[in-house]
Amino acid sequence: MSQALENLLHEERTFPPPKDFTAQANARPGIHDEAAADYKAFWQNQALNRISWFTEPKEVLDDSNPPFYEWFKDGELNLSYNCLDRHLDSHGDQVAYHWIGEPGDTRTLTYSELAKEVNRLANGLKSLGLEKGDRVAIYMGMVPELPIAMLACARLGLVHSVVFGGFSADALSSRILDADARIVITQDGAWRGGNVVPLKLNTDEALERTPGIEHVIVVNRTDHGVPMTADRDIWWHDLMEAQSDECEPEVLNAEDPLYVLYTSGTTGKPKGIVHTQGGYLTGVMTTHSYVFDIKPDSDVYWCAADIGWVTGHSYIVYGPLANRTTGVVYEGAPNFPELDRLWQIIDDYGVTIFYTAPTAIRAFMKWGDEHVDSHDLSTLRVIGTVGEPINPEAWIWYHEHVGKRNCPIVDTWWQTETGGIMITPLPGVTATKPGSATKPFPGIAADVVDDDGNSVPLGGGGFLVITQPWPSMARTIYGDDERYVDTYWSRFEGRYFPGDGCKRDEDGYFWLLGRVDDIMLISGHNISTTEVESALVSHAAVAEAAVVGRKDSVTGQAIAAFVTLRGTATGDEALIDELRDHVAHAIGPIAKPASIVFTGDLPKTRSGKIMRRLLQDISEHRQLGDVTTLANADIVAEIAEKASAGGS
Ligand code: ATP
Ligand code: MG
Repeated sequence: MSQALENLLHEERTFPPPKDFTAQANARPGIHDEAAADYKAFWQNQALNRISWFTEPKEVLDDSNPPFYEWFKDGELNLSYNCLDRHLDSHGDQVAYHWIGEPGDTRTLTYSELAKEVNRLANGLKSLGLEKGDRVAIYMGMVPELPIAMLACARLGLVHSVVFGGFSADALSSRILDADARIVITQDGAWRGGNVVPLKLNTDEALERTPGIEHVIVVNRTDHGVPMTADRDIWWHDLMEAQSDECEPEVLNAEDPLYVLYTSGTTGKPKGIVHTQGGYLTGVMTTHSYVFDIKPDSDVYWCAADIGWVTGHSYIVYGPLANRTTGVVYEGAPNFPELDRLWQIIDDYGVTIFYTAPTAIRAFMKWGDEHVDSHDLSTLRVIGTVGEPINPEAWIWYHEHVGKRNCPIVDTWWQTETGGIMITPLPGVTATKPGSATKPFPGIAADVVDDDGNSVPLGGGGFLVITQPWPSMARTIYGDDERYVDTYWSRFEGRYFPGDGCKRDEDGYFWLLGRVDDIMLISGHNISTTEVESALVSHAAVAEAAVVGRKDSVTGQAIAAFVTLRGTATGDEALIDELRDHVAHAIGPIAKPASIVFTGDLPKTRSGKIMRRLLQDISEHRQLGDVTTLANADIVAEIAEKASAGGS
């Protein structure tokens, strides 16, 4: 970006925190200022008060070798102990997970049951010769054995690398090789939309290229019969059968690695992000408690992300269990067998806190209001989003139809690399504005800067940077310190660069504008795709939109829009004209799309994020790049055909 980012979209609606919510909230007004006064003291207090340490840390932050920061480095702890053992004396019978299988079967795991399973698996892993520091690849669907496997690794100091169950054999083998894993834990198959995803067959294919794998542990989930390789493959139930349900937790250093997790790959080759123990747990426990206002004795909390992404690691497994939360885990697709499956689950289990992604919210909007409106949902008290900027209209829809105008919304900005939530409202404290992630979390310092790294005055836009270290920050990219420094720490001296564009309004609220790679240059103005998309989504007929800048001889780039309509609306020439005028009216003529193509769906990554790069290839009639990481590859050909048929 050669100049400041235009600030086009102005959102006037604000939602002050409800008074009765404030009165009972975990976060108190003033918490931001208190933390800012001494951020190290803030994080130290969180670490000491929330975690059960074997050895309490004396040193808070070692910043002697930036950007390789270390937190609580003389502390010793075990995460599975913090997630399980310490709750057992008084709360062993509390439900840790209400699990709901896609076909309708269910399983309830109390904390004491979960602890026993974890211990048995940990003993099983030991019996296979695994030792502290070894890497374990976990390639599973959303079954209870997935968090059990992660916690068993954490108990022994094994480093897990969870690979999302929607990935292909290729994606699995490259991640196994990169992390040099010794074993894989998988299942015969996973239920998804009524079909079986052949996880074991994919694993077998992946293992043709990964000589380092010694064993495969296989959960029998679908009972559909899979080949087992002698001496290599072991059924989970056979391994568990002989094991004791007691296992001493390893005493680990706060800076020992906990896991490697690959970013979702929206911008290119995934990076193996490394997180460690003590700082990570401090970050996820603190954010989970304040952002979701967790009350362990009464809440039923549901983060509907997949555990294969960082959201699931931090906010289904480690944060919630360490905070002794009762959670819901659902195995399958949100539209199976009916379009109201999630709302039915919320009513059935009395869910009080619900956390999902904008892409899911836009899908609900597309499916039609009736599926959610027919449900009560009155137990909900906080609802949240993560993963992409949320368009103000989608925010309002979520507020009205899911929150029933009664729940604070927490729009949480963060990434795999940050480990935990970074920019977010605190319910009961922060007044919200639809589409803004509001302010940095207490103890987090962020700024918006221009090309030269100068802070941009309020009202302007530029690059988001984080200006001081935080406990749950990534420690490196696995095996590649240099790429870690290059990617995140070399753009702006001494500051962390997440790669996202951002603006700040006059009140100092942060508005995330998507990736800097997606920013368009139209007639000399830097315009974010997010703002134009949000303007399109604010039209009553539109559920979802993606825009890209395509080369144009006159304006440099011209805006090409791809639009998915709500419910039964149909796209025609008249609607195209209407939408172009609508954008011009909402944010200005400069942002008027040059072309609009209607499509039933948009190309998305497996984590549900729009892949603008491919739409740009289509718009500029290029040979299409790699589509194998897409969730819906077939839509690309369809869009390409429509785009070349005119479309505008
Ligand atoms: P890769 O880094 O491999 O391209 P990725 O960035 O999609 O993949 P994640 O770490 O899962 O992988 O996603 C983090 C990114 O998601 C953020 O950098 C940001 O662009 C986007 N994001 C997450 N939450 C929000 C939010 N609340 N508002 C705006 N953007 C968000
Ligand atoms: Mg990223």
